[in-house]
Amino acid sequence: MTLPLSQIARIGAYTLTQHIKGGKYPLVLMLEPLFRCNLACPGCGKIDYPDPILNQRMSYEQCMEAIDECGAPAVSIAGGEPLLHKDMARIVKGYIAKKKLVILCTNALLLKKKIDEYEPSPFFTWSIHLDGDKQMHDHAVDLDGTYEIAIDAIKLAKSKGFRVQVNCTVFDGADSERLATFFDEMESLGVEITISPGYAYERAADQEHFFNRERTKKFFRDVFARGNGGKDWTFTNSPLFLDFLAGNQTYECTPWSMPLRTIFGWQKPCYLLGEGYVATFKELMEGTDWEKYGVGKYEKCSNCMTHCGFEGTAATDAIRHPLKMFKVGRNGVKTDGPMAPDVDLTAARPAEDVYSSHVELELAKIKAADPEGFKRVQRAA
Ligand code: SF4
Ligand code: SF4
Repeated sequence: MTLPLSQIARIGAYTLTQHIKGGKYPLVLMLEPLFRCNLACPGCGKIDYPDPILNQRMSYEQCMEAIDECGAPAVSIAGGEPLLHKDMARIVKGYIAKKKLVILCTNALLLKKKIDEYEPSPFFTWSIHLDGDKQMHDHAVDLDGTYEIAIDAIKLAKSKGFRVQVNCTVFDGADSERLATFFDEMESLGVEITISPGYAYERAADQEHFFNRERTKKFFRDVFARGNGGKDWTFTNSPLFLDFLAGNQTYECTPWSMPLRTIFGWQKPCYLLGEGYVATFKELMEGTDWEKYGVGKYEKCSNCMTHCGFEGTAATDAIRHPLKMFKVGRNGVKTDGPMAPDVDLTAARPAEDVYSSHVELELAKIKAADPEGFKRVQRAA
């Protein structure tokens, strides 16, 4: 089930209006209202915090303020595991009441238990974390049996009339043939796919299995070649982003297009890279030195090709060159021939060791608000 036309028109109109106005604008609010999760994936950069931090939740009011502040037409709620947040159904309803497109990302372990708290809506999509077929996914999340749970959850949600997509992150060592077969299976279930290479989060336990740029491009060419240039499958990603993954576009990232709000505040500069936090969206937009970040500018960005960084660029490119986008959409992604030149990485400034003072500050705040509770959590950890 693709996005309803009314939603495509709404987001298209917003993007076009913002583009005409000029300046920087967000497309999707990335909301992480908690970091606690019921899995511990080795490639996750979100769950490596002390228990008092993992126990924090953004309130309903803070979640509503975040979308009002940034004005994005859509919100993607992740974490941590959002279904562990006791107010999550209310938060989703609040966003829908504001006519925001809501994508609720979950590893699906709690979906069966919680699904009746939610109602199908053209504004609401379940996004199930599924990193490939059974062996690939269970390996990526480091727990046997999660693939079957996710597939059952997809079938259950679809049977109840919900819109469902899968969120698939690909790591080095993935097998293109198996990934293509997995996409066939998702297509047969009537499920759209959001695809992205993983980003090497500094806080991820496993630093070995992230793609570099060359491997990413070759891998995606190989995958798309097995599915008619990608046309055999239904992606939520834009055609030009898929074309970029296959090495056919030279793009700089648009780090403000998917800004991240967490319990620490707004993350600078982008969803992937945490180099400080600010209290307001305005401070993020006006106080970040955007020129310091991006592929070719900063070593930590060198291998980034993720959808959070580059979908915004693909959207701008589609507005500027609609015929190019239609051509890729109609013909599929080019999977052979020379690739587009890539950004020169040689002048990128070296990675800085950014001190994580936000963690200490948050811990101090939690301790000051409830010294006894803080001690209890510390003792139990
Ligand atoms: S399910 Fe998501 S949030 Fe939870 S550990 Fe895995 S990647 Fe991290
Ligand atoms: S290239 Fe760097 S700044 Fe741009 S989205 Fe990726 S990590 Fe963020």
